[in-house]
Amino acid sequence: MLESTRRVDTIVLDKTGTVTTGHMGLHSLVLAEGTQRDEALRLVGALEDASEHPIAQAIAKDARAEFGRLPGVDSFANRQGLGVLGVVEGHALIVGRPSLLAGRGMHLPNNLEQARRYAEHAGKTAIAAAWDGQARAIFVVADTLKPTSVMAIARLKTLGLRPVLLTGDSQATAQAVAAQIGIEEIIAEVLPAEKAEVVERLQAEGRVVAMVGDGINDAPALAQADLGLAIGTGTDVAIEASDLTLISGDLRGVADAIRLSRRTLRTIKGNLCWAFAYNVVLVPVAMLGFLNPLFAGAAMAFSSVFVVCNSLRLRRFQALGPDEPAHSSHTVPRIPNPRIVGGRHASQ
Ligand SMILES: [Mg+2]
Repeated sequence: MLESTRRVDTIVLDKTGTVTTGHMGLHSLVLAEGTQRDEALRLVGALEDASEHPIAQAIAKDARAEFGRLPGVDSFANRQGLGVLGVVEGHALIVGRPSLLAGRGMHLPNNLEQARRYAEHAGKTAIAAAWDGQARAIFVVADTLKPTSVMAIARLKTLGLRPVLLTGDSQATAQAVAAQIGIEEIIAEVLPAEKAEVVERLQAEGRVVAMVGDGINDAPALAQADLGLAIGTGTDVAIEASDLTLISGDLRGVADAIRLSRRTLRTIKGNLCWAFAYNVVLVPVAMLGFLNPLFAGAAMAFSSVFVVCNSLRLRRFQALGPDEPAHSSHTVPRIPNPRIVGGRHASQ
């Protein structure tokens, strides 16, 4: 796992909950002609209340705030990554991606189609709702960027990594978010089950891939990646499937984790190299009988002390400050507080 952090050249970032907060809010509601706002919010809110998806919960939350108790849902069905179906007060509802409706022959009227396009170009998510066989509303839901994402991406680039934004959202939404945080490469409209395949495809192109994700649907991709990093605020399944877990939801920790692993690996290699050189020189000397046993014993002990001291230098590792750009991996580490190193080594 440590070895892979050195060769990693591509970092795939899940969008929702990883680059963004994942806390969705209902931004606006656009209605087809003849549809009442209250009816739309109540029926759709009731159906969405039965789903655990963050987008669905954002809509349900507004509906609950306005109407209190929402009607019950019959025949609820979830189409993963696409939307939900169910019957509310005798109306058969379909709520989700416009393609879910289109697949059932329900197309958006002009004003809803326009609202969808406008929302997606602004990086928001358009959820289409249909009932009684007709597309009737667009719910515009927006997620907010984590304030630290821009800095995190800049640091990953400084470490020589190519960031890729991976999302189930539309190309336009993904592009708007990517542009805000400085990512050029986007893989959008990916169904949850396809995320691992995307990682596999990048690997087949010869890239060594790190993946950062938070959700259940990221787990296969985290496991497939050469290095899987789970956001600590994410789901247990994602954490289980990853190699590293960041305690906070702060993406800047990804750059720190990669820097620390790279430095650890350099230290291990340095130690091996030293121990090897040492033996190559002293073993023949000892065999020829030129080495005083007392000196040989001391040398052996010194060798161990060196390896420990060299490894202790890792304790100097410090995460970057909030607005500090990443150093390249070859710069000399800063020494924030030599006292932590302790003992003889510090006084040298
Ligand atoms: Mg996610």
